[in-house]
Amino acid sequence: MMSFIFFAFLVLPFTYTNSVFAFPPLPSFPPIPSFTNPWEGFQNLSGCHPGDNVPGISDLKQYLHDFGYISNPPPANFTNSFDDELEAAIKTYQKNFKLNVTGFLDPSTINQMTLPRCGMPDIINGTSTMASSLHGRKLYTYFTGNPRWPSSKSQLTYAFTSTSSVSISTSTLSTVISRAFSRWAATTTLTFTEVGSDSDPDITIGFYSGDHGDGEPFDGVLGTLAHAFSPTDGRFHLDAAEQWVAEGDVTTASSDAAIDLESVAVHEIGHLLGLGHTSVESAIMYPTIKTKTKKVELAEDDVVGIQNLYGKNPNYTGVAPATTVQQRDTSDAGLGLGLGFGSLFWRVLVVGGVVGGLVLG
Ligand SMILES: [Zn+2]
Ligand SMILES: [Zn+2]
Repeated sequence: MMSFIFFAFLVLPFTYTNSVFAFPPLPSFPPIPSFTNPWEGFQNLSGCHPGDNVPGISDLKQYLHDFGYISNPPPANFTNSFDDELEAAIKTYQKNFKLNVTGFLDPSTINQMTLPRCGMPDIINGTSTMASSLHGRKLYTYFTGNPRWPSSKSQLTYAFTSTSSVSISTSTLSTVISRAFSRWAATTTLTFTEVGSDSDPDITIGFYSGDHGDGEPFDGVLGTLAHAFSPTDGRFHLDAAEQWVAEGDVTTASSDAAIDLESVAVHEIGHLLGLGHTSVESAIMYPTIKTKTKKVELAEDDVVGIQNLYGKNPNYTGVAPATTVQQRDTSDAGLGLGLGFGSLFWRVLVVGGVVGGLVLG
C-alpha cells in the first residue's frame, strides 16, 4: 500500500496537470486519431435486422447502392427502414465476400463493410462482377462484354497527369507504378512503358480530391481509395487524401490509415486491363485492402483471369502456390457443387505447380 501511494504521489502531479516539466509522454497513451473512416458509423448498425428502423440505415443503403448492390435509388433519399430490398442486398454482399449469409447486419458483415476499398462497384448493371457462386470453376471476372485492349495494342503506354496534390517524388512514383505494371507484364504478353503526358498515352494516372468530374467523387481518408476504368478508357484515379505509403515498410508506418500505393496500383491496373472484382480474398482483384498491408503478388485467380484475356507470357513460371491453398481450403463450404469442383480444380492446379496456359470454361 505504501509503495502504491508513493508511486501515485510521484506520477499524478505530472499526469493530470499541465506540468512544465519535460517528462516524456507515458507509453500507454493511445495515439490521437487524425482521420475519420467515412464508414465507421456503420458500426452503430451492428445487429440490425429486417423490420428495424434505425438512423444510419439510409447511409448503408447509399453504400450498397454505390457498389452495385441496390440498383435503383429512390426518387428522394433512402429511408432508414430495413426493408426487403436491403435484406436481399446484404445477402448478395455476404455471398460475394464469403461471409455467412444471414441477411442481417452481423458484426462480420459490418467489419467487412468498413474496410477501405476500391471505388469500382462489385455489381455493374445488375451483373455481379464477383460471381462467387455463378461460375463453376472461375472466380475472376470481367466487365460486361469482356472489354480488353485490342491485340494491336499490346504495347501500352502510361503517363502521370495529376500528381501535384501528393508529396511523393516523381521518381518514387515512377518506380512504384512501374513495379505494379510489371506484375501484369510478367504473366502476359503485354508491355507497359511510361511516356510523357503529351504523348497521347493509353493509360493516364492521377491523384484527385473529392469530386473530380467523372461522377465518382473521392471521400477523403480511407473509404474508397482509387478507381480505374475498363478497357479501353485508360483512366486510373487515386484519392489524393489517402495516407499513401510509396516507400519503406507499410506495415510499420506511423499512420493507422497508411495505405500501400503499390498494392492499390496492382489492383487498379487489373481493372485497366479488363478484370472485375473477385471473391478470392488472396487475389489482387479482391475489392478491399486493410490499412498498413502490402499485397502485390498476383494469385492464381488473377493470373488465369488475365491470361484468358491476353495470353500467357512464355517466360512466366507460375505463382508461389502457398497463398491460394489456405484461402480455398477454408472458404468454399456451402457454395454449391459447381464451386466444390472448382476447389478441387484449384488444388490440383496448385499441387501441380503449373498455372499458366490452362483455359477455364
Ligand atoms: Zn477494384
Ligand atoms: Zn475518378
